[in-house]
Amino acid sequence: MDPAKRASVGARSEVREDAQLEEQVKDWLRYGEDLGLGPYYRDRPSLHAIAAAASASVESHNVATSSAVSASVPAAMAAAAPGRASGTPINVAPSPSASQKSAPASTILPATAPSLFESIERIEGDTLPRIREDIGDCTRCKLHKGRTKIVFGTGNPNADLMFVGEGPGRDEDLSGEPFVGRAGKLLTDMIKAMGLERADVYIANVVKCRPPENRLPEKDEIATCSPFLMRQIDAIKPKVICTLGSCSAQTLLQTAQGISKLRGEWFDFRGTKLMPTYHPAYLLRNPAAKPEVWKDLQKVMAVLGLQPKKR
Ligand code: URA
Repeated sequence: MDPAKRASVGARSEVREDAQLEEQVKDWLRYGEDLGLGPYYRDRPSLHAIAAAASASVESHNVATSSAVSASVPAAMAAAAPGRASGTPINVAPSPSASQKSAPASTILPATAPSLFESIERIEGDTLPRIREDIGDCTRCKLHKGRTKIVFGTGNPNADLMFVGEGPGRDEDLSGEPFVGRAGKLLTDMIKAMGLERADVYIANVVKCRPPENRLPEKDEIATCSPFLMRQIDAIKPKVICTLGSCSAQTLLQTAQGISKLRGEWFDFRGTKLMPTYHPAYLLRNPAAKPEVWKDLQKVMAVLGLQPKKR
């Protein structure tokens, strides 16, 4: 074969190989999407996150297989369920949520899009007092206009477990402490049911000033305030972050996915395990969802080696 002809045949077979490869890649992407993995191929987590997720997956699988997750609610959490005597366990049908069906509880999923926080450098030696000082008498967003007190966050600065809520309500705005109202009382009961005290964990919110009429924090308010939350997470270095409700899960994971899809699954947040669950305020309105939250909390307890509080 003359050299020109050989080159042209070679080029044609390369084109064929490229097309085959492209088809294979497309198949994989379709497969990923069918599995509900969404845009993971566009927004890959760092190699560190993948490695951490892989080893944690093995770890938590071992935990999950060695300790069954109980579907009843401890007395303290069950107390607010209407029509049930306090202390009566609430049993749930063992039907997994849609998201649990698509991925086993032992899997750690990467955050679904590049985090708002990925560009934020960790500040070496950052401390909670320094972050509070940097916030100062904040007027960075419009929420400052209606606030009484900035609700910075409270608890153990070295906590293994950090809860992240949405934003202060009326009671929190007046007291300057997160989760002190009715939802806060339920959160305290949830913490106790896990065998911990409030002082053992750290509690913070996505925004530190009360949104008017308890409306959801708006995008610009979240974007302005949440870098301080990020610094708090970096300073505390919890082993597990438990987000409460959709706002905190969606903010930290940078997703629009609803909380009922997200809850109960492990996510990787910059190398830290993150478990989304329902907000205690939601549980006050829907006590029937408590067993689901208790299942989520038990997954957290398994990772942290916690035993439920003895009755
Ligand atoms: N709801 C929240 O999300 N945070 C609080 O601090 C209180 C209620």
